[in-house]
Amino acid sequence: LLASVKEPLFAAHNMGHAQKVWEALNNPNVVTMVQCAPAVRVGLAEDFGMESGELVAGKMISALRKLGFDRVYDTNFTADLTIMEEGSELIKRIQENGVLPMFTSCCPAWVKYVEQEQFDLHENLSTCKSPQQMAGALFKTYGAQVDKLEPKKIVSVSVMPCTAKKFEASRPEMNSSGSQDVDIVLTTRELANLIKHAGIDFKNLEPSQPDSVLGAYTGAGHIFGVTGGVMEAALRTGYELITGKALDDINILDVRYSQGVKRATIQVGDLAVKTVVVAGLANVAPIIEEIKNGTADFHFVEVMACPQGCISGGGQPKVLLETERKEVYASRMASMYKHDEELPLRKSHDNPEVTKIYQEFLGKPLGHKSHELLHTHYIRRG
Ligand code: SF4
Repeated sequence: LLASVKEPLFAAHNMGHAQKVWEALNNPNVVTMVQCAPAVRVGLAEDFGMESGELVAGKMISALRKLGFDRVYDTNFTADLTIMEEGSELIKRIQENGVLPMFTSCCPAWVKYVEQEQFDLHENLSTCKSPQQMAGALFKTYGAQVDKLEPKKIVSVSVMPCTAKKFEASRPEMNSSGSQDVDIVLTTRELANLIKHAGIDFKNLEPSQPDSVLGAYTGAGHIFGVTGGVMEAALRTGYELITGKALDDINILDVRYSQGVKRATIQVGDLAVKTVVVAGLANVAPIIEEIKNGTADFHFVEVMACPQGCISGGGQPKVLLETERKEVYASRMASMYKHDEELPLRKSHDNPEVTKIYQEFLGKPLGHKSHELLHTHYIRRG
């Protein structure tokens, strides 16, 4: 299939990344492992003339197998793992008078903004790596162990809705496995190009499931792709771990649909957890101001640089007409929540593969191995 592709595949500015993927897929001496972010599966359909927001998770996985990837894993799995680590970190900070409010750290554009413009607040950032980077570190360690492979033979590829993820993968801190944890990052549009140029009939593909382990996910991991999703996923798990009780309603509407800044107070046992969800980096200034002038009373702040979170990321299929943008983003968002509702498991701590990886490999959240592979530090950037 790949050998039949003769014409140039990509615009010159994208050549590096796509070309590297192509070379890896054609190299019999390497093992390719791929992960896709949650938002990719509600955007990809649009580049094949399908309905906006149509969920194509199964077709996307089949297409990746047809392209020749040896292992098709899922960023949604490490989104669930992020909740275990980040939720534990938040609880620890609250119980031990650590630096609060804690900021989410899965959006590299937001992290870079703090490093560059607000470095005095860098200790507020969660030390958790993003799900992309957690997956990369695990592919070349746990994944290598499971498949009895030499880590240096693994080429780790991610497909993201985001161009900032390319920068994130190249950060020198992101090589906990001994080499760059994520070797190549493609955007959703670049994956669509690969599929088209390989002549794959995407619309008519039979859906398939990701590989196990490192592939199972819950609804909580999936909603990372939309503004408020990380917050909701963290609260679903935090509530149950702290109170030992099931949530009355798993849909925490108070943290959804932020149009800029959305504040909510969620009662978790005896603690009133104060949250802020910021959608769009342009809206973060008043929150930073409150923290700096000492009036902030919140515990946890989610910031996503894009206006609706990753579903509206710069690597997603383009919506050229501004008049259509609102509708398309609404379709992608509705699709995210619909998939969450139809999944059998909707809380990260219920993911059986997350339980398994802690039992077999990581030990416990915030444990020694987790710190080594799943956490990072921040540096001042010019
Ligand atoms: Fe990337 Fe935007 Fe998502 Fe941030 S919000 S991770 S910049 S797509």
